[in-house]
Amino acid sequence: MIARHFIDSLDFAHKGAELSGDMAVVDMPRLQDMLAAPDGVVRYTVRGLQGKDGKPMLEVELDGACRLRCQRCLEAMDYPIRQTTRLLLTPESELDAFPDDENELDSIAIDKHLDVEDVIEQEILLNLPFAPKHPEGKCQPAAEGMNRSADNPFAVLAGLKKK
Ligand SMILES: [Zn+2]
Repeated sequence: MIARHFIDSLDFAHKGAELSGDMAVVDMPRLQDMLAAPDGVVRYTVRGLQGKDGKPMLEVELDGACRLRCQRCLEAMDYPIRQTTRLLLTPESELDAFPDDENELDSIAIDKHLDVEDVIEQEILLNLPFAPKHPEGKCQPAAEGMNRSADNPFAVLAGLKKK
């Protein structure tokens, strides 16, 4: 079990509070389907702040790595997690009413008992690539001869069927 942190999000923003810690990838259940192996640790810092217009926000800074599965060769690949996201604290009733297309910021419902680890997991999930791949030419040669045509989708399909 991991120690979970709960914050009063609005109060946290108004006070300009800061919270940081480490979270193991293995403790992120919603990520597991995407992973080649549950390795890795993500260091997080959550800061409360107020925007120019005084709107309360949380800034979530993440630095770590996880192991995804390359969609070309199906081998594991290290994927760095380095991102900083700002989340606008919005009353729950307004979350759907004003989709903020033009204002770059994502919104999160104001919560007196916000689960910090849950927010971190969500942010990582939202930013993972849909089809992660090794850089061109860096795929692992597969044991079953798929390497000759690693970019051929039919070869990848044939490889999938063998599993
Ligand atoms: Zn690959």
